[in-house]
Amino acid sequence: MRRFSSDLRRSGKTIAFVPTMGFLHQGHLSLMEKGKSLAARLVVSIFVNPTQFGPNEDLAAYPKDEARDLDMTQKAGVDAVFIPDVQQIYPSGCQTVVLLKFLPGHLCGLSRPGHFNGVATVVTKLLGIVRPHTALFGEKDFQQLAVIRQMVKDLEIGIDIVAAPIVREADGLAMSSRNMYLTSDQRKSATSLYRALTASRQMVKNGETSAEVIIRSAAARISAVPETIIDYIAICDPQTLEDVAVVSGPVLMAMAIMVGKPRLIDNMMLTP
Ligand code: AMP
Repeated sequence: MRRFSSDLRRSGKTIAFVPTMGFLHQGHLSLMEKGKSLAARLVVSIFVNPTQFGPNEDLAAYPKDEARDLDMTQKAGVDAVFIPDVQQIYPSGCQTVVLLKFLPGHLCGLSRPGHFNGVATVVTKLLGIVRPHTALFGEKDFQQLAVIRQMVKDLEIGIDIVAAPIVREADGLAMSSRNMYLTSDQRKSATSLYRALTASRQMVKNGETSAEVIIRSAAARISAVPETIIDYIAICDPQTLEDVAVVSGPVLMAMAIMVGKPRLIDNMMLTP
């Protein structure tokens, strides 16, 4: 991977990079398409990063289909797919981690302690190996995007971070590798996230300014469908991710909901 990248750089070619955990879907493909338009060459990585999973999370069960992923990346015109193993990324004796002070203290960081430090560490390593000019991330993982932007700035990594909008199923469910775990009943319940977000967006358009009122209404909508357990629903500042009480400008509404076993996340900007 290093040789591939330095040969490209030496010949003056730009590199776009899309890091993934595999089990690819249209959300990943939208990042690849955008990446291709931004650089001469496109690299995709597939690595299920153990340091971003908590002890009771789904690391062992994370879906995997390398042959299908390679077929999809080939059809998408990807120039190289980097599939390291855990030992290559975390050789014994490695001791450096990347910790952020404030952004992980909100939203998913509260129920997934250590998750974003695992993300920041692996992305730093992948950027150091692939050495892209541009890296692309989905707004589906809004907090992850914020963490990576901050980290790239703080550590002077000197690459462009490009965001891409959430790709959804026809009924609004945000695409995710984890959706494959949903039973057909849970799949129906899972649409409640998008319905709650769009209803909240409408409340704000209609003049509602109380975050508490909007969150309560979204929670009622989600709790009304079977097999949902709310981890959090928040309305926050899209830069700092700090809670906002009164909606007076564009805010981020974000949520994590267990639907059966899978924990689904989604978000949307609400603009008065
Ligand atoms: P993952 O494989 O889930 O780690 O995701 C790899 C990249 O794809 C991340 O930047 C995600 O934010 C992005 N991504 C995942 N799902 C979607 C989606 N439905 N729409 C847009 N981007 C997505």
